[in-house]
Amino acid sequence: SQVRRKHGPATRPRFSFEYFPPASPLAEERFWRTLRALGSFDPDFVSVTYGAGGTTQDRTIHAVERILNETDLKPAAHLTCVGASRAQIDALAEHYWAAGVRRIVALRGDAPKDQPNFKPQADGYAFAADLVAGLRRVADFEISVAAYPEVHPEAKSAEADLDNLKRKLDAGATRAITQFFFDPDDFLRFLDRARAAGITAPIIPGILPIVNFKRTCEIAASCKASIPSWLPGLFEGLEDQADVRDPVAASVAADLCRYLAARGVEEFHFYTLNRADLTSAVCRLLLCDAAMQAEPERRQLLVAGAAQ
Ligand code: FAD
Repeated sequence: SQVRRKHGPATRPRFSFEYFPPASPLAEERFWRTLRALGSFDPDFVSVTYGAGGTTQDRTIHAVERILNETDLKPAAHLTCVGASRAQIDALAEHYWAAGVRRIVALRGDAPKDQPNFKPQADGYAFAADLVAGLRRVADFEISVAAYPEVHPEAKSAEADLDNLKRKLDAGATRAITQFFFDPDDFLRFLDRARAAGITAPIIPGILPIVNFKRTCEIAASCKASIPSWLPGLFEGLEDQADVRDPVAASVAADLCRYLAARGVEEFHFYTLNRADLTSAVCRLLLCDAAMQAEPERRQLLVAGAAQ
């Protein structure tokens, strides 16, 4: 369905939301509030991250299983293989399957920062493609993998990185979710290159509404996502002015999504950072855009989700 169109969206955009597992009772309360608020947008799935090197393993499992058992949402558990043995990963995957979890976001994870010459462990899955193959041997999971519009920092070349994405999909993943980006043409060019390389699976843009600009720049630097030259000026002086910063952040993310939607992108994955407000504003605007372009009798139907 990801055909590039010249004109705007004809169908309702689809959403998925990413959360991190909460670490305190207060954060837990916010997590559930956010999950319920964004649940009204009828997401295809909601995913829960796995802290670097599995540091949040228990909290991730707990959050994923509570979502499964206490809501109508479809949870996807992030799972990284770095620093774990194949037996440990397989055991966790078996646990998830037995609990009823059917979706996994399969990742390699980052090497520990204090180990510059880090080598994957001999009895582990070395790369995400190996992890995907291992998960498929355990059970029939629906697996998502990561993709990098601006190329993964460790990749030998853009082509090698695309080959890697292809390997992950050939190993049994069914969709890719991208690293965040701020220039929509980076995503569209990447999509074109992936299609030219014969990749047909959905590639979902990962959208990061900016909660804290300084922190966003730090993360972008570590994963080599570029910050466009016009972006810093927008957030300058707004560190302590949430009432101005938040509408600006929502507008930046909405413009990005609208540009993509106008070119045929219909699915969006939001890095929510466990906040409902910015993502909710963007989803509402996208639904309203879709409604304005639909036949009058379908308009009410398209915005219904946003009104809940
Ligand atoms: P891979 O696909 O294995 O690729 C890693 C690098 O190795 C790439 O440069 C690739 O080109 C290269 N490569 C692959 N195979 C080979 C090979 N055979 N030979 C040589 N080079 C090879 N991290 C977390 O810790 N927890 C999370 O929950 C989490 N969620 C994420 C969600 C999304 C949507 C994204 C985009 C990233 C997420 N990350 C997460 C970050 C991710 O773990 C890092 O970006 C990590 O460095 C790479 O993971 P990967 O799965 O893309 O690795």
